[in-house]
Formats: sequence, C-alpha cells, structure tokens
Amino acid sequence: MSASYSVPQKRKLVTALPGPKSIELQERRVNSVSRGAGTLVNIYMDHGAGAILVDVDGNQIIDMGCGIGVTTIGHANAEVAEAAAAQAAKLTHTLFTVTPYENYVAVAEKLAEITPGDFPKKSILVNTGAEAVENAVKIARKFTGRRAIVALDHAFHGRTNLTMTMTYRPWPERAGMGPFPGEIYSVPTSYPYRDGLTGEEAAEKTIDYITTHIGATEIAAFFVEPIQGDGGIVIPAPGYFKRISEFCTENGIVFVSDEIQAGIARTGVWYAIEHHGVVPDLVTTAKGIAGGFPLAAVTGRADIMDAVQPGGIGGTFGGNPVSTAAALKVLEIIERDDLLGEAKRVEKALWARIGDWADKFSVVGEVRGKGAMFGVELVHPGTTTPYPEALTAILKHATSHGVIVLDAGSWDSVLRIMPSVVISEELIDDAASVIEETLRALSGV
Ligand SMILES: *Cc1c(COP(=O)(O)O)cnc(C)c1O
Repeated sequence: MSASYSVPQKRKLVTALPGPKSIELQERRVNSVSRGAGTLVNIYMDHGAGAILVDVDGNQIIDMGCGIGVTTIGHANAEVAEAAAAQAAKLTHTLFTVTPYENYVAVAEKLAEITPGDFPKKSILVNTGAEAVENAVKIARKFTGRRAIVALDHAFHGRTNLTMTMTYRPWPERAGMGPFPGEIYSVPTSYPYRDGLTGEEAAEKTIDYITTHIGATEIAAFFVEPIQGDGGIVIPAPGYFKRISEFCTENGIVFVSDEIQAGIARTGVWYAIEHHGVVPDLVTTAKGIAGGFPLAAVTGRADIMDAVQPGGIGGTFGGNPVSTAAALKVLEIIERDDLLGEAKRVEKALWARIGDWADKFSVVGEVRGKGAMFGVELVHPGTTTPYPEALTAILKHATSHGVIVLDAGSWDSVLRIMPSVVISEELIDDAASVIEETLRALSGV
C-alpha cells in the first residue's frame, strides 16, 4: 500500500491513559449517559487515520478493534469523507419509500454483485445490523409461511428485542429485559477447540437436536455467522456449513449468513461464508460497509426478497443518501486497492507474529482466525477451562499502553483482534509485544 496518512502510523503516548482530558470528559459522561452503554475503556477519541486513533490528549493509539469491525478500510478515509460531504451538501434525505434516489439502487446493484451466488438477487437497506437481522426474519417468515427461527449456540445477532433473543448468552445482552418473543431456538454448533468434532459430526448433532426439539419443517430460517464474532471468533469445522446448508435446502429452510461482522473484505473474501464453500439464500451486511456511516442490508434470492408486500419492510432512515454515498466509495476502494489481498496480508502477518502463542504461553488454548479477524482463547494452564480474568488483565494492560483490543466469547475469555486491513506489519508487531507482556506474566515465563 502506498497510502499516506494524516497521522503517523505509530503508537505514541504523551500522557498516562486515560489522560487528563479523557478523565474530565468521563466525569461529564457519568452524569449524562446511561451506564447501560458500557464502555471498554474510557479514552475519548478525537481523530484517526489508518490504524491509529488519536485521543483528546494527543496520544496515538493502535486500533486493533475498529469499533468492532467497522472501520475495515482504516479510520477517516479521505475519499470516503469527501464523497459523504459532497452528498451531504446535495441531498441528505428523501425517505426511499416516499421518493427514491440513485445511490440506494447502486448499493443494491453492488451487493448483488459481491454477495455469493449466481442467481437474481435483491436487497433492502436499513440502518443497523440488528435491523437487518430482524428484516431477514420477517422476509423468511413471509416467504416460507413458517415461524420458527434457529440460531447457533454462541451467536450474536443484535440487541433489539427479537435479535437479543437470537443472541446466545443472557448476560449482559438480555438479562432482565424480557419478555422475549417465542419461536426462537438456539441449537448446538461446531466449536472445534471445545467439541473436538469434525464438521460432519457436529452437523449431525445440530440436525438431531433440531429433529428432536423443533422439527425441520417448522423452521423459517437458520441463521449462522460464518465466523462468530462476539461469540469468540469461533470458526466451525470444515464441512459443517455445507451439511447445514444441504439440510436447509432439503427442508425448505431459508439459510441466512449473518455477515455483519465477518463480511465486506475483513476475512480476505467479500463474504466469510465463501471460506466454507456454501451459498446462502440471504446475507446480512452492516458494520464494515460504509466506513463508519450507519448502513445495513439484507441481500439474497430475488424470489425470497420479493415475498414481502410493499410497505411490509422499510424505515425512515434506511439507506440514507449520505451513508450510501460513503458505502459506494468504500466498496470502490476495496476493489481498486485490493483490500481482499490486504486482509490476506494481515492474516499472514498475524499468523507469523502470534500464531505460536499457544505453544509459548500456557494461558493460551488456541489462536484462530481468518484475514483481519483473530481470536486468542484464554484458558487456565493445562486445561480448557475459560480464563476470563486473563482477558481482563490483557485488556487493562493493553488499553493503558495504547493498544485497543476487544473481548469476546460466551465466557468472556477470548481476546478478539480485528484491525483495519491497512494496518502495517510494524503496528501488528508493536501491538503483539504489548499483549505478550501480560501473557508472559500470566504464564510465568
Ligand atoms: C454487530 C452485529 C450485529 C448487530 O449489529 P448492530 O449494528 O450493532 O445492530 C448482528 N450480527 C452480528 C454478527 C454482529 O456482529
């Protein structure tokens, strides 16, 4: 990459973290913002470029999280900013379902091109990932005339009433906030590190559970994340999704790949389900599609997408002119600058730098990942017992030393590493060194 950035791509600390201005802002925040919007670390950011965030005190921080996989192409991309600003000066809103505009159609055309499958496809654009998942549920129910929705153990599908119910764990996403909608089922998945099963064996377990608990022909849609994000970068064993997708086809179930976190170039392909050699009926897209502007989509087989009556899906802000202008530029940059190739470069660099952590550190059970989406599963030495305190220690040390990394996993014991695909090898090395300081202390080496 020959990109030049407005901020040097280097970690540089000029105060303790959080710095004095962050601490001041935090005092205001505590008095005005619900504690329900919990924060990983209270460092207030001012600007960013590429893989570096600059906080209000002038510290340059390595971003290995991208606001949970959103700024995949790097922070504050100048071309995206320009495209969005130009659109904002021209037209900011019509509501597509009152009077349409071209950007919306152009994003739908592009999504039809980049999503898996050689069949006619259509899209609907909405604002958030959860909204995309909700719409996929509605569309699949209308298309099949069935009600049951299946999601996998360890899934994360959002925080609205319907999607928090599809999300696996009760705490903190769901606890105390019911009642929950019915006809949502969590089923066993493939988690190679923990179940030791082949993809085919795990799929048979899933199918047996469905047969004995739900009934295949009751199911409208089967939602999967091709690589689970919040669930702990869980990558089902080879063959798992192939069998699940066949099972869906055999039983008239709409197979939905929730690509909100893993999609849009992050894993070295446009959509992560491609790694599994499977073509879903519908995909949901959000996070990385518009460089930080709110935009999400459901895309898939035209006959399924057209099952809903006009007016049955939509929303005031969905597919906003500015967000769609940003998305068109993001998608253009991914193609023009071969960011799929860049994600593969990051994968290679991460394997080279952190791939041996399970051998070197007794608290690391497994390192796994694709592209710029990695997980480090932390366990008590000599066991596979989750070690959430180790993750807490890593996050505390890393964030106070200028490296943002994320937590994940149903037991809060997976370190999630999701940098921009434009991050340099030098920054990966520097961030890894900071994380290793804690791994060494925890492992006593
Ligand atoms: C983040 C996420 C969602 C929810 O997206 P929001 O924009 O936060 O509503 C849904 N599914 C997956 C896989 C996600 O990672």
